[in-house]
Amino acid sequence: MKSRHWYHYLWIWSIIYFSLGFVNILFAWLGLINFCLPLLFAIIGGNKLFCNRYCDRGQFLRFFGSQAGLSRRHAMPAFLHSTVFRVLFMAFFFAMFGSALWTTWLVAGGVASVQDAVMLFWTIRLPWEWTSTAAVSPWVVQFSFKLYSLMLTSELIAIVAMLWFRPRAWCTFCPMGTLTQGICKLRNKKG
Ligand code: SF4
Repeated sequence: MKSRHWYHYLWIWSIIYFSLGFVNILFAWLGLINFCLPLLFAIIGGNKLFCNRYCDRGQFLRFFGSQAGLSRRHAMPAFLHSTVFRVLFMAFFFAMFGSALWTTWLVAGGVASVQDAVMLFWTIRLPWEWTSTAAVSPWVVQFSFKLYSLMLTSELIAIVAMLWFRPRAWCTFCPMGTLTQGICKLRNKKG
């Protein structure tokens, strides 16, 4: 039997993160960890250690897809592996992240009011009125909703890919994976 390390249990953090969003949407800010840590590993270390070990989503997909055997392991279409698709998907994903920042900026400047709903796949509006956010600035609330929407949407895509294809199929075209891979290549080329 393969030995287990503490990071193999990081999938629990994925469940905690999305559950906390039901309690209070402000916990969505914790999702920034998943943006900052892989970048730090890639920029400072020049490696994909985050993806290989410490990514809670990667561990979540491995656990449910591989260990729990939920993955159907159908062949992935070739285009999902292609550099063009991966780069376009990354560009789209970060454009959506930029749009979240822009909306937050508008709310902070008093130009727009808070859209207090979680948007699934950028189109399906999920009512999320039970979370109390009265004590903080509206822009903080706005960013929470936007980030949680982005995290939940990408998690659902990752789960569908895990169920239908292989456990970590999402990692093939994950925007953070593509970005950090590019950074590592550049960094190691320089080195
Ligand atoms: S590719 Fe994305 S989801 Fe997969 S381990 Fe890396 S950061 Fe996590």
